Amino acid sequence: MMAYDYIIVGGGSAGCVLANRLSADPSIRVLLLEAGGSDANPLFTMPAGFAKMTKGVASWGWSTVPQRHLNGRVIWYTQAKVIGGGSSINAQLYTRGNRKDYDAWASEAGCEGWSYREVLPYFIRSEDNERLVNAYHGYGGPLGVSYPINPPPISHAFLRAAQEAGIPFNFDFNGAVQDGMGHYQLTTRSAERSSASRAFLKPIRDRTNLTVRLHTQTLRIDIERDRAIGVTVASGSVAETIHANREVILSSGAIGSPRLLQLSGIGPADELKRAGVPVVHDLPGVGSNLQDHLDLYAICECTGDHTYDRVGRPHRTVWAGLQYLLFKTGPVTSTLFETGGFWYADTEARSPDIQFHLGLGSGIEAGVTQMSNPGVTLNSAFLRPRSRGTVRLAGADPNAPPLIDPNYWEDPYDRACALKGLRLAREILRQPALKPFVLAERLPGDHLSSDEDLAEYAFRSAKTDHHPIGTCAMGIGPNAVVGPDLKLRGIDGLRVADASVMPSIPSCNTNGPTIMVAEKASDMILGKRPLLPAVL
Ligand SMILES: Cc1cc2nc3c(=O)[nH]c(=O)nc-3n(C[C@H](O)[C@H](O)[C@H](O)COP(=O)(O)OP(=O)(O)OC[C@H]3O[C@@H](n4cnc5c(N)ncnc54)[C@H](O)[C@@H]3O)c2cc1C
Repeated sequence: MMAYDYIIVGGGSAGCVLANRLSADPSIRVLLLEAGGSDANPLFTMPAGFAKMTKGVASWGWSTVPQRHLNGRVIWYTQAKVIGGGSSINAQLYTRGNRKDYDAWASEAGCEGWSYREVLPYFIRSEDNERLVNAYHGYGGPLGVSYPINPPPISHAFLRAAQEAGIPFNFDFNGAVQDGMGHYQLTTRSAERSSASRAFLKPIRDRTNLTVRLHTQTLRIDIERDRAIGVTVASGSVAETIHANREVILSSGAIGSPRLLQLSGIGPADELKRAGVPVVHDLPGVGSNLQDHLDLYAICECTGDHTYDRVGRPHRTVWAGLQYLLFKTGPVTSTLFETGGFWYADTEARSPDIQFHLGLGSGIEAGVTQMSNPGVTLNSAFLRPRSRGTVRLAGADPNAPPLIDPNYWEDPYDRACALKGLRLAREILRQPALKPFVLAERLPGDHLSSDEDLAEYAFRSAKTDHHPIGTCAMGIGPNAVVGPDLKLRGIDGLRVADASVMPSIPSCNTNGPTIMVAEKASDMILGKRPLLPAVL
């Protein structure tokens, strides 16, 4: 039987970081298993490749169960199936959230060692910031972080409009202050996507102690006498068992990790029995506590060709391609969502609770309406939902899609704040600075203004912001799945390290925080002393 010291299940944002850090010692043999394929296609390199990424490319093809509080709507739920995971298909926004997010992990969820001052050094360790070096930023790490290359004039007008609406300009959401609007930092380097695969795996291709297996789905974690001893995998129709000398590390994402634990008989006993899976270890918290950001959006028709909606026309595509190949400029360098920021729905909130993403076009993401004339989109997401959902199995078949239930808007507070966020988005789009660019609001449309009308609109149009977390939550309470050391409770030799361990959702996009989790996990797995807390 094949054997490795560490087996990492899932080559996504977290898995690639772990593969890099654990294999830095040539005496340690590491295996990284990824169900998806390679990211060699140029679509994964070009920042604007994002336009294809929520429409089925490199994804598992899952949807939510009908959402009870969204009028029964089933929402398309893109989750990556490719090396690099979400970081290979995401919109490349690099955000870290608010320091209070991590302080709450430590003080409220009991995650000792995970306060902001303790995690900040791990954010910085990854970072290769093209512009910033200070108490919050660094350079020389594997992950490229850059500002947008040439935001079009409508982006700048949007920032002025936000200021007219009372929201200040912010140059660095990842610095001392999160509040305000500005251009996002992006996980790009030299006008190319800096996914976890390109940043953390590509430079170490020649390490002989690291094996990366693509198109290899892990079917279950093998447990013997309360210890994870390895995994059973399938490449095509061939199944095999691989032994882990030290640990199995689960990094299959906030949907994939609780799914695989449950397929392995680890989870709430009643749920496992319902799905027909023999119970190996009754652990009630597995697959619960699902949190996600739900996006509502306004779309306006532009007065002219101010966004990238027409770049899809053949002669424009050729020109955009040439600009990119020859000069690394033009629309292809844009992640299409590169401007936005953070503000308040609830004025009593402890930190910004709404995030805006300005979309340089319409119909960029799956299910979002494409205008016949050039359009501009403004997404607003409520950042700290109180609703909690679940990831469950439909049955014991490892190829069956999981039952994903984010349970959006179960808590009326989430709905109230989301609708306020949408109102704020519309207000910004109506400011004088955008008048030369914006002809009229087309969605929701001026005729819709009551909360009931806007909620009806949201039932039809709301979409995921693709930020699931929390389904193998770290903590010390009865529903914690892993401890602050990320060890699975009750089973030895098994850790979880990915977005699923976050006890509560950070007030931002989740790729940067996931990479931070994996950085910190790698030190714990290797028994290293944690980096010294930041002095702020
Ligand atoms: C469309 C989209 C847009 C996003 N935009 C942004 C953004 O702009 N900025 C941002 O910060 N965040 C964004 N996110 C979120 C961010 O990318 C994720 O939070 C992050 O990638 C999660 O990392 P992870 O390691 O937990 O999981 P993933 O990156 O999803 O990795 C899990 C990996 O495990 C593999 N896997 C799962 N099950 C198995 C199995 N049984 N066997 C083998 N392999 C398995 C999967 O194929 C996948 O590659 C976006 C996400 C998506 C999907």
